[in-house]
This record gives sequence, structure tokens and C-alpha cells, in this order.
Amino acid sequence: MSYVKGLRCRECGREYPNGILFVCEYCFGSLEIAYDYAKIRKVLSRETIEARPKNMWRYKELLPLDRDPTDGFNTGFTPFIRADNLAKILGVKELYIKDDSVNHPTLSFKDRVVAVAFSKAKEFGFNTIACASTGNLANSVSAQAAIAGLRAFIFIPADLEQGKVVASSIYNPVVVKVEGNYDEVNRLCSEIASKYKWAFVNINIRPYYAEGSKTYAFEIAEQFGWRAPKHIISPAAGGSLVTKIKKGLQEFYDLGLIDEFDTRLYVAQGQGCSPIVTAIQEDSEIIKPVKPKTIAKSLAIGNPADGYYAYDVVKKSGGWAEAASDKEIVEAIKLLAESEGIFTETAGGVTVAAAIKLIKQKRIPKDESIVICVTGNGLKTQEVVMDKLHKPLKIKPNLSSFEEEQKKVPTADHYSI
Ligand SMILES: *Cc1c(COP(=O)(O)O)cnc(C)c1O
Ligand SMILES: [Zn+2]
Repeated sequence: MSYVKGLRCRECGREYPNGILFVCEYCFGSLEIAYDYAKIRKVLSRETIEARPKNMWRYKELLPLDRDPTDGFNTGFTPFIRADNLAKILGVKELYIKDDSVNHPTLSFKDRVVAVAFSKAKEFGFNTIACASTGNLANSVSAQAAIAGLRAFIFIPADLEQGKVVASSIYNPVVVKVEGNYDEVNRLCSEIASKYKWAFVNINIRPYYAEGSKTYAFEIAEQFGWRAPKHIISPAAGGSLVTKIKKGLQEFYDLGLIDEFDTRLYVAQGQGCSPIVTAIQEDSEIIKPVKPKTIAKSLAIGNPADGYYAYDVVKKSGGWAEAASDKEIVEAIKLLAESEGIFTETAGGVTVAAAIKLIKQKRIPKDESIVICVTGNGLKTQEVVMDKLHKPLKIKPNLSSFEEEQKKVPTADHYSI
């Protein structure tokens, strides 16, 4: 049973039947999925959802499949954490972390989009899966290809963190390091996708793939007690996630699953690659491409495919955007770890750092509900913090050696901002 009506152009509104299509043939606008909401309304209630297994497919009517899902049965329903320690430090009342740093199987929110892409690629009959990636997507496609027994080609920029490369290679896909930045990798992959009959999850089946991100927002609303929080701070690379957070909450509201929807959306990027932040701050619809130079490599897309749409949803929601310097990213990673016991990668550092700025600027009031999106795991980007931590005490295996070294441990060494 499918609830999908087809594809619709985001620019001119033209509709197309389901297919391997991602740009409008008339105006080159990007396509997105159109659903039959009247039909979904009849079958989907809070109770039906709550009775289902705790994974991303509990919202399956709002995902673009014609058949039953085949992948991602352990993906999603990640922790939604009330972050009181961090709230106290930041001086706010009600702070939450939506923690996809522990998503299954590869510890980032990309497992959600890939699960949808794989299920859809199988419907279309593909047997080779590929992607252009800043790291996490590569990990997820590699792992899920291994689970599904499909061939995978992974294209990454040559300068990725070692943790991201190993976390792809371990699943034994074909990893292709391209001597160039992500935007060059992506351009090459578009060319390859037009020649080879492969499913490039974020290129030729992108409209389906991108819908997976909505489950992150669905879970926020469900775990927040079937409500939409007042403020959500999201990282942005290509800009898709923040637009899908908006779409997901809007769908829940339109279907009567939440009673109110008045959420301000905020975008966070690394200072060395912040084309979407710049557009929002300068109130310019034109996204000016940049050459990325930031430690937040998972967000380092200089020419974001959904940049304009990200700009648009943030502006319309009454939100804002902030960029974080490399130093601020590292500080924020450490702060989140020391306050909440969550070890996030650079992207999470970017979001926490941006949240701190937005709160300090009073753009986010102290007494309203705030959700910070943590989308990836710190074990994958260890090099950015490695030299910034206290070294372990090194001792001989005896008590006096321990007591000697122990004297050197500083007493109070806690965060305040
Ligand atoms: C890909 C990625 C994002 C951003 O996703 P977009 O939809 O491209 O904006 C955020 N966080 C992490 C960890 C990612 O890997
Ligand atoms: Zn069009």
C-alpha cells in the first residue's frame, strides 16, 4: 500500500509519476515527494505509531516506499535527552539534545536517509549503490550495502578524517578518494550517475533519500510528548536536513498528530564553510559558493544543493543562523562531553557552539524549549580534540607512584561560559 502520489517540482509545481527522476524537465527545479495526506490521515494516529517497534519505520506512511521497507530496522528512535547540566551552564530553562551520535548502524543521522534510499533502490531494481560523501554518508552506505549484499562505490574527498575512511573501508566497499573537495566529488558523481546504472543515493534518487531526514523531526515531536519545541538548532551541509525538519513537523501538524507548530529553526555551519549562514545573515536569496576551510568536514559543502530552501525555511520560521570557528567547535565538543556525557563529532560541536551564540545574543529566549541537533559521533573525528585534552597520568605499578602523580591533578577544572 503506497501513500505516495508522485514527485512534484519545488519551483513550478509540476507533478511526475514515481521514477528515477530528480530535476524538473521544464524548469530544472528539484523534485520532492508528494503524498496523499487524506489517505494517511485515515490510518495514522498517535496510538498506531506508539504501538509499533521503536525504529524509524514507525512513521512508514510518511516515507516514500511502494512496498514494505527492507532496510533500517534498527535505525532511528535515538535518545532525546533532557540536558539539564548544559542548560544550567547556558542559563536556559529547558534544553534537549536529539542524539543521533548513537544511531544504528554507523553512528550518524545519515543511517536514516540511507535506509530509505536502499529500500527505494531495491524497488527500482538497482544492484549497485553509490554516493558522494563528506564522510558519514560514506560510512552508512558502506555498512548498509554490506547488510543488504549490494555492491557499493563510495566517493570521498581525499582529505577526510582517518576515522571516517576506516569506518567505510571496514565494510569493504570500493572506496574512491578523489583529489578535490566535496563539490568536485559531487560534480564527478553526477557525471558518473548519468553514464552508469547505479543508484547514487544523494543524486539520482535524492528526492526519496532526503525524506528519511523527516524521521529525525518526527521523533523529536513524539519524544517531546507529541509537541513541537519552540527552537531547533540544526547543522547544515547541503541544507537538506533543516528543510526536512520543517516538512516533518508541518506534516505532523497537518495530520493532527501535534496540536501546535510554531517552531523557529536555526542553521549552524563551520565558519570556514558557511554559505547558508551568510545568506541568512545578509538576507540574500542567492547562496554564494565558497571554498571550504573548516575542521567540520562533514558539513563542508561549499555549494549546497538545498541552500536556498534551507535559507527559506529558516527565514519563514523567524529563526536565524550562526557559524562556529574551529576553536569554538573544539570547545563545544568538550563542553558537551563534560556536561552531558555525549561525545559528538565536529558537526555536533558546530551546533552546540551556534546554540551558545544564539542564546548569548538573546535570539533564543532563556525560558522556552530548545532542541540542539547532535547528528554524528566523536570517535570518528578524534584528531580535532586529541591534543586538546588532559594527558593520562603515567605511573609505575605501585601506590607511591600513584600518590606522587595524583598530587598534580588540578582540583576544580570545570566549564563556565
Ligand atoms: C550530512 C550531515 C549533516 C547535514 O546534512 P544536510 O542535510 O546535507 O544539510 C549534518 N550532520 C552530520 C553529522 C552529517 O553527516
Ligand atoms: Zn519545475
